[in-house]
Amino acid sequence: MDTCLQGETPESLLARLEHLGATLPEARRLCAHVLQRGHDDYRAVSQVRARVRDGAGEAVPVGRLEVREVARSLEDPFVKYVLECPDGALLETVRIPLEAPGRFSVCVSSQVGCAMGCVFCATGRMGLRRNLHAWEIIEQVRRVARDLRASGEGRVHGVVFQGMGEPLHNVDNVLRALEVLSNPCGLAIDARNITVCTVGVVPGILRLAEATRRPRLGISVTSARAALRRTLVPLEAKYPLEDVIDAARVYQARSRRLVMLAYPLLGGVNMDPEEARALATLLKRLPARLSLIEWNPVPGVDLRRPTEAERNAFHDALASLGVPVVRRYSGGKDIAAACGQLATETGRRR
Ligand code: SF4
Repeated sequence: MDTCLQGETPESLLARLEHLGATLPEARRLCAHVLQRGHDDYRAVSQVRARVRDGAGEAVPVGRLEVREVARSLEDPFVKYVLECPDGALLETVRIPLEAPGRFSVCVSSQVGCAMGCVFCATGRMGLRRNLHAWEIIEQVRRVARDLRASGEGRVHGVVFQGMGEPLHNVDNVLRALEVLSNPCGLAIDARNITVCTVGVVPGILRLAEATRRPRLGISVTSARAALRRTLVPLEAKYPLEDVIDAARVYQARSRRLVMLAYPLLGGVNMDPEEARALATLLKRLPARLSLIEWNPVPGVDLRRPTEAERNAFHDALASLGVPVVRRYSGGKDIAAACGQLATETGRRR
């Protein structure tokens, strides 16, 4: 199913319902009924003519992702969902608690698997199965929002594209999903609270820079030294970090918001003084804050988490070079929901 209501803005829905003589207010009501109020069909929608409502059910159905598993972390309030698409593909979504009580972020997948092959990442080991449709991306957020509403725990405040897949390798569907997420008749999430993280797909960054509602951009650096980065992030051979930073500068100028630079800490690999100096040079070209994230173990990957002494030494080396740095917590390790750990069991067995 390529086309479902969750992938539509009122304007695009109206174009699909033209043959029924639908009006824009009717399209808005249909979108709000499903996306904001969380209904699974159009039966109870008010102020929409029966002909339009019934025809919409045929032409643009409400898509479903079956919940295969909901895993709650015992260490922290992270929740991981395993969801099944209509073709049987499995994907993972993580509910992340924010500091303010009752507010949550949803870490969404944009692809089933990933073609980028970063050596430290569980999803990269799956290879790419397929891109997710825009509606499949939105449905992950709608599912979490509905559960939060039903349990009275709170609401979705933000979305981060850092689940399975490289979002800018599926840029058309991600751009459409961004429109629906921030549309007042869609999920109505402020674009400033949406982050798209990439390992450096340069054309995708430039496409995103042209979007009407621009999210925050995150870039996974992994190393500022090209030779080392190539061994960890194969995409470096196609889009060197130098070019990625140029594109990020364009993005920063257009969006007027600081780009977030994510840095997975790989013990004994990318945390030496030379790396700190290379990062300091990099950050002279792009004023940004570096988020240090501890790498999380992935079965079959011969890397290790850094020791506390390594973490402190690297942090201090960066700070002494004037690099603005922040340590980011990545939770849900016990349910394999932390950064870099997402991969469906089918993918892991492969
Ligand atoms: S880190 Fe991101 S881009 Fe790299 S393999 Fe994993 S999911 Fe893909």
